[in-house]
Amino acid sequence: MARMNGKVALITGAGSMNGLGGATAMRFAEEGATVWLTDLRSDGIEAVATAIEARNGHARTMVQDVTKEDGWDELIDAMVERDGGIDALVNNAGIAVLRPIEAFATDDWHRQLRVNLDSVFFGSRRAIARMREQGRGGAIINISSVAGIVGVPYCSAYAAAKGGVRIMSKVLAVECARDGIRVNTVHPGMIETDMQIVARRDNPDNFDKVVGSIPMGRMGEPLDIANANLFLASDEGRYVTGTEIIVDGGMTA
Ligand code: NAD
Repeated sequence: MARMNGKVALITGAGSMNGLGGATAMRFAEEGATVWLTDLRSDGIEAVATAIEARNGHARTMVQDVTKEDGWDELIDAMVERDGGIDALVNNAGIAVLRPIEAFATDDWHRQLRVNLDSVFFGSRRAIARMREQGRGGAIINISSVAGIVGVPYCSAYAAAKGGVRIMSKVLAVECARDGIRVNTVHPGMIETDMQIVARRDNPDNFDKVVGSIPMGRMGEPLDIANANLFLASDEGRYVTGTEIIVDGGMTA
């Protein structure tokens, strides 16, 4: 039986066919979920939705800037009106700006925290309120990073945000456990998406060195993250909350 039958899932930052959000949306839809895809620009989410529909899945799209608090109300209200609510939220939208600390501009610091951390607070707060009202539990999956667990050079703001996401998820998990709302994090290592293509272009020597140091000797694929998200969002993960899945080919072992 499909693992997400009857569930309504929201995935942010789902505007790229090669990204972790797009892969998660496709995987959830394959397993029977109705998926809501959001991103800054409409063309990416429309392309992912078209691919899902071509496989007989159900996809809805909405342009969203995850840093805008009001947009979250509009989005969840639309989900309630059209599909009766929300069962799973994947807070996936993110940006990475890498700089040595002396070169890190204050604006870059704030932007990273807004996109990678404030958004998770806004989205979780709104989704949890709705899930409590629905009374049928729910799952929140926050995409962190290995940079939220161990020190990775040049990403002070990104890591501060991702580490914040990790511990906030644990707090929300214990706050919401009695309502059947589970909150977990997934920590990707190096996964081959546009984000890593940019990192390779900016610093090819260092990039290849880091990939070479991964115990499995290669980067992961977006599907590897989508499968972890699927486990946590589906009833297979029903007793899993306040924890994390590290998908990194052994990078942090
Ligand atoms: P990506 O750049 O392909 O996708 C991120 C998406 O987020 C983009 O489509 C972008 O438009 C969207 N986005 C950015 N700012 C936004 C905003 N303000 N509002 C709405 N959408 C916004 O990157 P990806 O590799 O698929 O990354 C997805 C998540 O995984 C991110 O949170 C990232 O930090 C995390 N991550 C990725 C890797 C990796 O190796 N790819 C590793 C660790 C963590």
